[in-house]
Amino acid sequence: MSFSYVSHLYCPKCERTYDVDQIHQLCECGSPLLVAYDLEAMRQKVKRDVLREREANLWRYHELLPVKHPEHIVSLGEGMTPLVPMPRLGREIGIEALYMKDEGVIPTGTFKARGAAVGISKAKELGVKQLAMPTNGNAGAAWSLYAARAGIQATVVMPVEAPELTRKECAIAGAELYFVNGLISDAGQIVAKAIREYGWYDASTLKEPYRIEGKKTMGLEIAEQFSWQLPDVILYPTGGGVGLIGIYKAIKELQALGWVDGRMPRLVAVQAEHCAPIVKAWKEKKRESEFWPNAHTVAFGINVPKALGDFLVLEAVYETNGCAIAISDEAILAQQQMVAKLEGAFICPEGAAAFAAARTLRESGWIRDGEKVVVLNTGTGLKYADLVQVVPPVLEPEDSLPMRE
Ligand SMILES: *Cc1c(COP(=O)(O)O)cnc(C)c1O
Ligand SMILES: [Zn+2]
Repeated sequence: MSFSYVSHLYCPKCERTYDVDQIHQLCECGSPLLVAYDLEAMRQKVKRDVLREREANLWRYHELLPVKHPEHIVSLGEGMTPLVPMPRLGREIGIEALYMKDEGVIPTGTFKARGAAVGISKAKELGVKQLAMPTNGNAGAAWSLYAARAGIQATVVMPVEAPELTRKECAIAGAELYFVNGLISDAGQIVAKAIREYGWYDASTLKEPYRIEGKKTMGLEIAEQFSWQLPDVILYPTGGGVGLIGIYKAIKELQALGWVDGRMPRLVAVQAEHCAPIVKAWKEKKRESEFWPNAHTVAFGINVPKALGDFLVLEAVYETNGCAIAISDEAILAQQQMVAKLEGAFICPEGAAAFAAARTLRESGWIRDGEKVVVLNTGTGLKYADLVQVVPPVLEPEDSLPMRE
């Protein structure tokens, strides 16, 4: 039995293949590369029962991850986040079987830790010493911290408007941090120039093939946590769309292994009203998106005007009979409050967008009676504490509390 059944990298556009033991970024044709496994060999040799003995973190799926030698693993215990039933909210919005996959409780407070753990581990295995990346904040934070643990130097460029906490995470981890007066796409241009000039490793979304593999583990966990019975619908707040591409890839791999029962869940790409390139493309039945001008939303993690992997996100939506839907900032903030009040979960605005989408899709009948629905809460609301403004009454020491009605 091998530790990893990884076999090679391949291009989903032109089908060229590449070696996993060397550094590769994009395909020669400009497309992101995906990681392939020898699923046939794995199907023969590995039974899903082996998982029972393993620790509750994402490395329990090491056969389906790209790291070949366990000594290269860089871990802070990430993964196997809770799949929490949401009965009160579910009743309110008419979805009895509503679940939240809660990524708010993972190291660094967002699911970006998954991509960083696997991406950094593989970078270490490949001998990377210095990487650079653009970020909307959370990825930069996670990659800076995991890079620190791996002894890899990180240079990070983020919009000045990115959530304040994330810059502190980068800085405390010792990353070289820069702001850009602009969007993540502008940060991306600056990073690309440095990569060309200095030959650093490019850790930008989808410019290295391994971040998807980390995020894929959300799909593996959802399947295992439901005892290998797939849910009907999975809703995902979509920026670069890596999580959605990953979940789709995970479930296809589980199907090829014969580990799961039931049909492929319908995957929903949730975006913000003022940054919805995937939704626009989906409505127009296109295979790729166009750059979204003047993108803005409180859900900063999904403020991505044009994603390199847009065609893969759209393919996952089309192939699963899913859909794409945009939510307003007002609805996001109202939903965030409702989830806290009804379920005691302080979720991030991106996660709130996905819950708001579940509500809208139930109202329209797209989510049907009795369907089992999973919403990805991609991070903790604590990372965006400024979005909640409170002005409580101030008491003097001799004051007493009024009675509550
Ligand atoms: C990055 C991020 C997203 C979007 O993730 P993609 O996989 O790039 O689409 C969603 N939520 C949060 C909290 C994020 O940080
Ligand atoms: Zn190609």
